[in-house]
Amino acid sequence: VVHPDGTISYTSLNRFPAVKLLPPAQQKRILITGGAGFLGSHLVDRLMLLGHQVTVLDNFFTGAKTTVSHWIGHPNFELVRHDVVNPYMTECDQIYHLACPASPPHYQYNSIKTVKTSFLGTLNMLGLAKRTKARFLIASTSEVYGDPEVHPQTEEYWGNVNPIGPRACYDEGKRVAETLTYGYQNQNNVDVRVVRIFNTYGPRMNPFDGRVVSNFIVQALKGEDLTVYGDGKQTRSFQFVHDLVDGMILLMNSDETRPTNVGSSDEFTIGEFAELVREIVEKVQEEDGSKPAKQCKVIYKPIPVDDPKQRRADTSRAKESLGWETRWSVRMGLEEMVRYYKAKLDEGNL
Ligand code: NAD
Ligand code: UDP
Ligand code: UDP
Repeated sequence: VVHPDGTISYTSLNRFPAVKLLPPAQQKRILITGGAGFLGSHLVDRLMLLGHQVTVLDNFFTGAKTTVSHWIGHPNFELVRHDVVNPYMTECDQIYHLACPASPPHYQYNSIKTVKTSFLGTLNMLGLAKRTKARFLIASTSEVYGDPEVHPQTEEYWGNVNPIGPRACYDEGKRVAETLTYGYQNQNNVDVRVVRIFNTYGPRMNPFDGRVVSNFIVQALKGEDLTVYGDGKQTRSFQFVHDLVDGMILLMNSDETRPTNVGSSDEFTIGEFAELVREIVEKVQEEDGSKPAKQCKVIYKPIPVDDPKQRRADTSRAKESLGWETRWSVRMGLEEMVRYYKAKLDEGNL
């Protein structure tokens, strides 16, 4: 459903949503690595709905064919099983490079592979961009700031990252991926864009990937205890996936070549966030009469090593260069996500 303000609800997306194709000369050939993942699949939807030709490269490590299955068979869509640590040849106009596991349990599962994906995968996609003269956008992360001593984080901050801790494979992988990206810009004139994505949530997030938003919603829907790690005083700011997709497409099509933060500046302690999720789940359950008599509890578990204590995006650059702002409040976004997971649970798929 495309809402009047341009935002899209995907919960009711059927096979082959109606796409008004652009005239062939205006269709861009767009490659999306990691396009079967959570963020990638939403980007696929938006670019397909805009009428472009989209090819997804994915090895399905954390993504799934089902996230894009509604496009399979569409003449503008192609899904390719490919691991980006290996070279890949195609012709294209734009590359959105997202391939990389993003949740701590997934990227720590095989940390060497995570570093290889970030380094070799980015090298190959930059080589492809160099050969085809395609514009290249990399999905970097707020994790390049590590456990930040500057708050909120601006793009000028160099970060505070432990190079050998359990998060290093991801944080340092993304840092070297940014270094490579600017190396190709400086040495080979590759046209690059770097988006530093802050915590993002929404439908299609893998419910079992261990990130906080999916964990809390699934726990609350199942009537289980909500697991807060540490004392719950650490902070994060959460943006809804549609706002991020807006920012990525705006950045790709802008002249801004510096790293650009895209994220929410609405900061919560994790303890407060657990309360908010519980309240919203109860509201949605009340609407259809499924609210259980007993409220679920918040329990405390050990804090993971090197867990950043605070994080909030300074998005002045995105606002000035792209005219980007968030359109979804956390409450609106969480309600949409709770309804999505609840439908899955009711179908027996959660
Ligand atoms: P995700 O795990 O859902 O998606 C990652 C996708 O990449 C999956 O489909 C996975 O199968 C694929 N992939 C992984 N390794 C690959 C490889 N070697 N070759 C080909 N495909 C591979 O995660 P996501 O949340 O959608 O994140 C997408 C990108 O955005 C990642 O690069 C991540 O670092 C970045 N990011 C995400 C967030 C967030 O909050 N979700 C925040 C900052 C940055
Ligand atoms: N590459 C790729 N697809 C292409 C072009 C290059 O996967 O269309 C890979 C190539 O195999 C190499 C990497 O990208 O591993 C970097 O390419 P580049 O041309 O910059 O370096 P070189 O091949 O000269 O080492
Ligand atoms: N967290 C939590 N309970 C959970 C999962 C995560 O309290 O069930 C905490 C985690 O320790 C961190 C924050 O929530 O402080 C965000 O975690 P997530 O893994 O979602 O993202 P990241 O740490 O990469 O920002």
